[in-house]
Amino acid sequence: MANDDLTAALGTVIRPGDPDWDVARRFHSGIGEPALVARASSTDDVRAAVTFAAAEGHPVMVRGGGHSAWGTVPGGVTLDLAALADVAVHGTRVRVGGGAQWGAVARALAARGLGLSSGDTASVGVGGLTLGGGIGLMVRAWGLACDQLVGVQLVTADGRVIEATDATEPELMWALRGGGGNFGVVTRFDFEAHPLDGVVAVELGVEGDARVAIGALRDVMAQAPRELTLTYMDVPPMDPSAPAGASISGVWAGADEDRAREALAPLLEAPGIVERSLGARPYPDVLLEAPEFDPESPMPGFVGGNTLLRALTDDAIDHLVSFRESNPASVVLLRSLGGAFGDVAQHASAFPARDATWFAMVGAFDVPGMLSDEARARALSDWGAIDALGSGVYGNFTTSTDPTWATRMYPSATMARLRAVKRRWDPGNLFSRNHNVRPA
Ligand SMILES: Cc1cc2nc3c(=O)[nH]c(=O)nc-3n(C[C@H](O)[C@H](O)[C@H](O)COP(=O)(O)OP(=O)(O)OC[C@H]3O[C@@H](n4cnc5c(N)ncnc54)[C@H](O)[C@@H]3O)c2cc1C
Repeated sequence: MANDDLTAALGTVIRPGDPDWDVARRFHSGIGEPALVARASSTDDVRAAVTFAAAEGHPVMVRGGGHSAWGTVPGGVTLDLAALADVAVHGTRVRVGGGAQWGAVARALAARGLGLSSGDTASVGVGGLTLGGGIGLMVRAWGLACDQLVGVQLVTADGRVIEATDATEPELMWALRGGGGNFGVVTRFDFEAHPLDGVVAVELGVEGDARVAIGALRDVMAQAPRELTLTYMDVPPMDPSAPAGASISGVWAGADEDRAREALAPLLEAPGIVERSLGARPYPDVLLEAPEFDPESPMPGFVGGNTLLRALTDDAIDHLVSFRESNPASVVLLRSLGGAFGDVAQHASAFPARDATWFAMVGAFDVPGMLSDEARARALSDWGAIDALGSGVYGNFTTSTDPTWATRMYPSATMARLRAVKRRWDPGNLFSRNHNVRPA
């Protein structure tokens, strides 16, 4: 189809050679090589783009906030939803466009004394984060982002527009809570928000023995009220996500500093833990701003992975800290789960492991000149030992759409059920640029 015809049919279309091409094909961590980028500004545009891609045999990458590491599909259609970013609050219900970002949602809700648990970064998309699960700063208070989802508007692979809720399409809703972007294009998400008058933001330094600090953190979280969700991070200087070194951060869901301090007391008294800041803040102010992608200094590769841990045992802590100690370019991230996350039964959503109490991400940045072949091999084998302690992988924190991830992410019964849902909604696997579930 000629460019003008395409533009008339699909909204704004950008192709190689167009002035906007280099911006349009960029995503958070790279620059892709799609055949074209279709920027949709209505549900009708989405329908037209899906129908066009299906007819022409182009695979589709649905782009919500553009923060996945697999940003585009080479030679395919990138369907950019950034213009579908309306956020409308009605009582405790919030309707969010399929291309909205979490910072905008948090601001609209905070103005009404409400909140949702999202991710930790303002520019991350509601689309990818929710469909993959969404481990947020208040995951213990309110569960995953997808647990707060009550309905969607979805454009199907055959170009229909449907409204789905648990009452009308229970299997589809089950799959959308953790099964990723496999089942259609979500043009609108409906969430049920929670009353929230602010959060107590916690920033602690870890200046002593990391094994002792993580042990104290684990013991505190085992007893803590669900309002408290904490993260441990130990990062090297080249990681843009946080200041170098070990720290514990998180939020208490609510503005009551006394209750937050009471829950944190044993941790604040643990050896080597230093209070850096602790106080009530509006939730939108706590969300991080991720640096823009810089083509001059792309993110280095990552040797490692993530896993969901049923228990943070002393053995696991020792493996994690040893990994970090043996590699100067390594990162260790631990996010507390349990609470409302664990209230949801395993079979009630497609998310991999509801009995996990901790999420762990561990790896070494593959910085040219820093990671020798020997160090890379060691990082891989050390990571293998940590991986063996876990039960499932969280797809949103993986760095590619390598098919092995999808098979490792889901228990076999979950994968079988996802494949049946895929067969119903996308039998030709048009939506394959994701952790792909193949139609049964
Ligand atoms: C800086 C940063 C911070 C992060 N923090 C967190 C965090 O705190 N918690 C967490 O759980 N994850 C976090 N993540 C991971 C994040 O959840 C994933 O990268 C997620 O894929 C981002 O969603 P997106 O819409 O921005 O990405 P995109 O690249 O736009 O989309 C990723 C995939 O989601 C699907 N998709 C997106 N939107 C739609 C839609 N409307 N309809 C259908 N399919 C869609 C597509 O299959 C697409 O391939 C973070 C990532 C980054 C880069």
